[in-house]
Amino acid sequence: MDGNDDANISFIIMFVKFPELRHLSARYRRFSTNVEADTKVLQELLKNGTLKPHSIPLERVNIYHYYFNTEPHLDAFQKTLNRISKFPVHLDIRRCYVPTTTTTTTTSSNGDGDARQQEQQRSLEEAMEGVSISEACYNIVSKEAQCWACLHSFERCWKCESICAACQRTRLPPLANDQKLQDFQRRRRGRRHTQREKNKSMVVSAGANDLAVTITPTTATTNSSVIDDPSLEDEFSVFE
Ligand SMILES: [Zn+2]
Ligand SMILES: [Zn+2]
Repeated sequence: MDGNDDANISFIIMFVKFPELRHLSARYRRFSTNVEADTKVLQELLKNGTLKPHSIPLERVNIYHYYFNTEPHLDAFQKTLNRISKFPVHLDIRRCYVPTTTTTTTTSSNGDGDARQQEQQRSLEEAMEGVSISEACYNIVSKEAQCWACLHSFERCWKCESICAACQRTRLPPLANDQKLQDFQRRRRGRRHTQREKNKSMVVSAGANDLAVTITPTTATTNSSVIDDPSLEDEFSVFE
């Protein structure tokens, strides 16, 4: 229901209307996505028996929009979705970085091996995060966030990680990033098209020889779901 349905309809209604629903996408609904209210409605539906616990085969819920900043009710929402579904539900958003509090430093009594292992684990975690453990950030990040220039998948929000770790370019806010990514993909598709035309003429000119060479473009296939989503185009035009 990305951008196509009445924006005032909460997507919760879909769970009741379509009990066999597996994937629900209600993205780019800046003004009608209310995680707290939706969580409450779901809990109410569970309480009054309209929805039975673990009764629907829901696997995935997409609710990302470009103006998600922080969302204090994300955990409650996730838990509630898991309660109504037969499966753990995959959300398309997550928090930028919240350190787990379970790993505490009680290494002394466990002997050298354990201590060393934990030390290694810690330095590995720190290297992976590239920041100190104390830097918690509750900003919302799309799990599909990618660098417009090199398609690197971002771990952190653009405020915490202002430079792309892969291509070292300065990161842009999510909307600007995806607009640029879209432009970039269009240009690339254009280039690929002209390359294909060139390849065709190469095959024609080599036609007399017995060697049949298939020239496959070596450019990596990319996740173009963002770019090809027509509703996204509409969403962009609104803000232009
Ligand atoms: Zn952050
Ligand atoms: Zn990059």
